[in-house]
Amino acid sequence: MSLVPFNKPYLTGKELHNIAAAHGHGQLAGDGQFTRSCNLWLEQRTGSHKALLTHSCTAALEMAAILVDLQPGDEVIMPSYTFVSTANAFALRGAVPVFVDIRPDTLNLDERKIEAAITPRTRAIAPVHYAGVGCDMDAIMAIAERHGLLVIEDAAQGIMATHRDRPLGAIGHLGAFSFHETKNIISGEGGALLINDPALVERAEIIREKGTNRSQFFRGQVDKYTWVDIGSSYLPGEIIAAFLWAQMEEADAITDRRRSIWERYHVAFETLERAGRLRRPVIPEHCGHNAHLYYLLLRDLDDRTAFIQAMKAEDIGCVFHYVPLHCAPQGKKIGRMADDLAVTIDLSDRLVRLPLWLGLEEEQERVIETVQRVLSGGRLAC
Ligand SMILES: *Cc1c(COP(=O)(O)O)cnc(C)c1O
Repeated sequence: MSLVPFNKPYLTGKELHNIAAAHGHGQLAGDGQFTRSCNLWLEQRTGSHKALLTHSCTAALEMAAILVDLQPGDEVIMPSYTFVSTANAFALRGAVPVFVDIRPDTLNLDERKIEAAITPRTRAIAPVHYAGVGCDMDAIMAIAERHGLLVIEDAAQGIMATHRDRPLGAIGHLGAFSFHETKNIISGEGGALLINDPALVERAEIIREKGTNRSQFFRGQVDKYTWVDIGSSYLPGEIIAAFLWAQMEEADAITDRRRSIWERYHVAFETLERAGRLRRPVIPEHCGHNAHLYYLLLRDLDDRTAFIQAMKAEDIGCVFHYVPLHCAPQGKKIGRMADDLAVTIDLSDRLVRLPLWLGLEEEQERVIETVQRVLSGGRLAC
């Protein structure tokens, strides 16, 4: 019986070829041919005004926080059920993460609870598209407009996914993607910032290039380049971009395969859901999701712990997800709870993710049968 890991990075087979080509081009620093191809692909696929590769989604979020000029004490509304980078990027500017509860169906920021969290210090909303399923962006953009707020999408998990046919990451003023090896399209570490508001493009390029106007210099728009603003080094080298380009070229096929794995789980677990034994993910009708992950909601923490143990005994890797940020030491220190976060607290204890990676197809039947056996047996304490 072979081990089924929770994640296994997929390689298209063209990555090393592209890396050799980048080497051959003789430019290994950032913003070479492959970076340009990746940026252009992102712009064409999302309709974003400008896409800039970064070395991570974390870096893209940090750029966004600088770009919108957050000041110490400014507030950013976000879910507590997310990865630390959503909050950290803003905390680095001295901003206060304000945690709003999630929706019980999609586990995304509950747009109905956002307005109650707004204060005179609120500057931005950072929705996270959990599992590559879009937040209610119509409602969020309308709230932002009413209150003069910026929307920075944490679309780390959202590549190739849509909300009302609009690509995630390209709906807010800014959007951030991740190409970390646990995501759908990968380069080991990697990310991109989408600048959807044209007024922010010029400064984004400067912030990414250590606060210099180097990008304008290379386009011949200025005759020397110099230090003009704050910034840092956020661009990846060409080797990363070369790797990523191989993945982008197969992004449709990768997404299709992930979706069929996702669908197979979804069909297989319908009976257990009808029996009240678990809850499956909910995909709103107007969301085109990217099958980033497949999760189950079990009964309680003990049920989940027993499930993960039982799966592990069968050599199948299942894992829980976030410790809510408002429960984490740093979140308690600098964050603010806008409401009781009851859904966040409840669901974070009950959620478990199943293996989902390209190549799982051959083992998926065994995973499904094991889940069914574990959850229909009387062995679990529930
Ligand atoms: C993966 C992830 C990140 C961080 O992405 P990196 O590219 O590793 O920096 C941020 N937010 C969310 C929601 C993520 O899933």
